[in-house]
Amino acid sequence: MKITVVGTGYVGLVTGTCFAETGNDVTCVDIDKSKVEKLSSGQITIYEPGLEKIFIRNEKEGRLHFTTSLADGIKDAKIIFLALPTPPDGDGNADLKYVLGVAKDLGGLLKKDEYKIIIDKSTVPVGTSEKVEKAILESARKSADDEGWEDAFDIVSNPEFLREGVAVDDFMKPDRVVIGTSSEKAKKLLGELYGPFVRQGNPIIYMDEKSAELTKYAANSFLATKISFMNEIAQLCEKVGADVDMVRRGIGSDDRIGKRFLFPGIGYGGSCFPKDVQALSRSSRESNYDFKILEAVMQVNEKQKLHLLPKIKAWFKEDLKGKKFALWGLAFKPNTDDIREAPALSMINALISEGATVTAFDPEAMNNVKKEIGDKINYAENQYDALEDAHALIVATEWSEFRTPDFNKMRSLLINPLIFDGRNLFDTAVMQDCGFHYESIGRKAVNGQ
Ligand code: NAD
Repeated sequence: MKITVVGTGYVGLVTGTCFAETGNDVTCVDIDKSKVEKLSSGQITIYEPGLEKIFIRNEKEGRLHFTTSLADGIKDAKIIFLALPTPPDGDGNADLKYVLGVAKDLGGLLKKDEYKIIIDKSTVPVGTSEKVEKAILESARKSADDEGWEDAFDIVSNPEFLREGVAVDDFMKPDRVVIGTSSEKAKKLLGELYGPFVRQGNPIIYMDEKSAELTKYAANSFLATKISFMNEIAQLCEKVGADVDMVRRGIGSDDRIGKRFLFPGIGYGGSCFPKDVQALSRSSRESNYDFKILEAVMQVNEKQKLHLLPKIKAWFKEDLKGKKFALWGLAFKPNTDDIREAPALSMINALISEGATVTAFDPEAMNNVKKEIGDKINYAENQYDALEDAHALIVATEWSEFRTPDFNKMRSLLINPLIFDGRNLFDTAVMQDCGFHYESIGRKAVNGQ
């Protein structure tokens, strides 16, 4: 099939590349000229495990193209995906200006005798499909009596559930595909398009547009709730002397609860959870519903991002001036270079405002941080360089390579054998044996010195 993907960021590039991988002819459109130039010359623009290999293969085999022109991009395509940003507006609602802007442009380009399916893959509030349809119709109609446009296109809501860091696997073998549409024609075509991705039997779930739109917000908000719940349990563990690892294992073995998403830490970040929880809360309010849990989830998360700070300050007798901190991890989670809403950035701001300095290391995200905050912090060549002459180590992202480091080397490089771990990477008994003072989340501090 000939497919267009409008918006070539994390979701658009993965979507386009994976559809090309199953033999489709895909054109990705983006307004960012430099991004399109890079991609057209075979350079990948994001770090996502496994993506580069299939991106290069499909581009070489002529199934993956890039353009800045929407008109060129949609030529001959029957299926057009919108993978556009939906950032928060001033009130915390999803800003639909990118989606509706492209919908309006599409309206001016459609032809009555060339049926197309326009699919929203962005995360959008309930009712967006109707708005997209309206925007397309308004710009397609040349005059008040210009009729027949309703049959020229169908709108589908097809939310994306991929996780950064494992996006290719998630896209190639999705747990489920959600397709929200009332059009039988669209259902059939999308069933064919997604067929190769669900051969193992995972379902394609067909529903109406509104339910599909809400499904995505409900999924992300539920997962964020699970994280904030565990972070509160961790807080309580610290107060009463319980161990959150034990509690996590104790509850996770119950099938109704499940083992995943029960790890406490310094809060969730990224481009999705923070804005989606907020947008669901705001849009609920506009529907006269006060979604109380979501307000609590957001408050807990904001507080959690700085949960380590009082512990750090207490150790240094409330004076961080002139102290140098090594920071392991900048990305909002491992296996991505995405730093949007990363808890590490909140920690950096807090430390710097206390007069401390920070030397950070992240395997993939340092360039993005440099672009955002430049020389506000120092950047290390590797995880051990960051430790040199530092008064303490703070762990902010659970990259695999941080999990079994050379503890003797770490001790010799740090001024104090002191670790504040925001991701519970290390075993407390091991830390004790290795002679570290070690503080983590929801577990007793150990003092091996
Ligand atoms: P992104 O910011 O990485 O990419 C968006 C792209 O759209 C950018 O390259 C931008 O230049 C381009 N763009 C903006 N206006 C355009 C226009 N008029 N024409 C063409 N291109 C345009 O965003 P993303 O992370 O890929 O997210 C896209 C949507 O998918 C959001 O709604 C997000 O909530 C949702 N989503 C994201 C993820 C994720 O893990 N990142 C997962 C599921 C869903």
